[in-house]
Amino acid sequence: SSNGVVDLLVIGAGPSGAVVSAMLVRQGYRVVVLEKGHFPRFSIGESLLPQCMEFLAEAGMKERVEAEGFQFKNGAAFAFGECRDAFDFTEKFSPGPGTTFQVPRARFDQVLADEAQQVGADIRYGHEVTAIERDGAVSRLSVVTDAGESYQIEAGFVLDASGFGRVMPRLLGLDRPSELPLRKSIMTHVEDRIDDQEYDRNKILITVHPQHQDVWFWLIPFSDGRSSVGVVAHKEFYDRYGEDDARTLKTLIGESGWPAALLAGAEFDTQVRSQVGYSANVSQLHGDGFALLGNAGEFLDPVFSSGVTIAMKSASLAAKALDRHLRGESVDWNTDYAEPLMQGVNTFREFVLGWYDGRLQDVIFSAEKNAEVKRMISSVLAGYAWDTQNPYVKDPKRLSTLAEICRARA
Ligand code: FAD
Repeated sequence: SSNGVVDLLVIGAGPSGAVVSAMLVRQGYRVVVLEKGHFPRFSIGESLLPQCMEFLAEAGMKERVEAEGFQFKNGAAFAFGECRDAFDFTEKFSPGPGTTFQVPRARFDQVLADEAQQVGADIRYGHEVTAIERDGAVSRLSVVTDAGESYQIEAGFVLDASGFGRVMPRLLGLDRPSELPLRKSIMTHVEDRIDDQEYDRNKILITVHPQHQDVWFWLIPFSDGRSSVGVVAHKEFYDRYGEDDARTLKTLIGESGWPAALLAGAEFDTQVRSQVGYSANVSQLHGDGFALLGNAGEFLDPVFSSGVTIAMKSASLAAKALDRHLRGESVDWNTDYAEPLMQGVNTFREFVLGWYDGRLQDVIFSAEKNAEVKRMISSVLAGYAWDTQNPYVKDPKRLSTLAEICRARA
């Protein structure tokens, strides 16, 4: 059809797609983005990490995001029974921003996509990629629009930023199971009516279930008196609570300790949603003429709010590698893209494993912390998972030794 042939095609206009498109357009390339939805649309993942502010700056989007009036965020607070502690992200080991935002994603994603469009990305909303044929480096994509039309488009290079849509992994058979167990999350937005002097709206609050160490809750306040609340547990854990997700969420919040008290006056006025089996992996992050970005590649776990930051890091690395590729320089996507990206993913992986097996909880809830070590942990929690100057990035397994020290002190 007349839609013909393009050099660069991006699938999905979420954070990774919008950021990579803006970066490439600013470098002088023409980019077509196929997005199956229409924005604003709901998305999960509302707590950002300070590290992602650097990628937003690189994409030329930082000022625009800062002007939105999103909820300021400067750290993460943790609660488990009577134990409470907080990490202030401005007190961290690595250089870089120490603050960020808590954002309703419907609005945030629209701001990023609008920015990408404004600098020149050709975003086609309501266009869903349904099939891909590959011929060497060239991909031929079948697209169906929500107006009922279908067409084919050929691309010299495809960046798959389709998130949980996982378009290329599914269509090209690159999907691999995650090593993390099958977990389910139930979530909603509430009018929170929180009235507690000790509660700090500038931090995400992560609470461990008092009786079940691997069940946890998030509370992410927004700037308008509303909050995102959610619970994460093994899929089978929910069996004892029955089928009704909305009721289960309320019951579990009732069992949660501090969040139960904080949300005692909250109004549950919004649809309750759930997501199962979101952890995913792939056999390869790139191939001849394509690369997988953000959640279309590997997704670990929501506990440290790393998803959007990893998505933007992948966008930043891919835009640089692609620029060199398009200039005719030789690019080794393994050493220039996959390996640097995995550095941070692997740091977060060890932290996620350490959270669920108790090591990291022992560190977080230990009463006396070495100030310098706390700054190093704070750095990773702030998203600086690629700074190999940090001993806990260079060798994340150090977490085990640290946990032993914390246990011995307790
Ligand atoms: P997405 O944001 O998913 O965007 C992908 C886009 O591709 C979508 O707009 C979709 O419509 C489009 N698309 C899909 N299929 C097609 C198709 N076939 N054709 C065309 N377009 C298509 N992350 C955080 O940073 N902080 C958090 O607090 C956080 N909490 C989370 C809680 C839970 C329970 C879960 C499951 C995840 C959480 N995450 C969090 C992770 C976060 O949601 C993702 O990492 C992030 O949205 C990834 O961005 P992305 O750009 O890769 O994909």
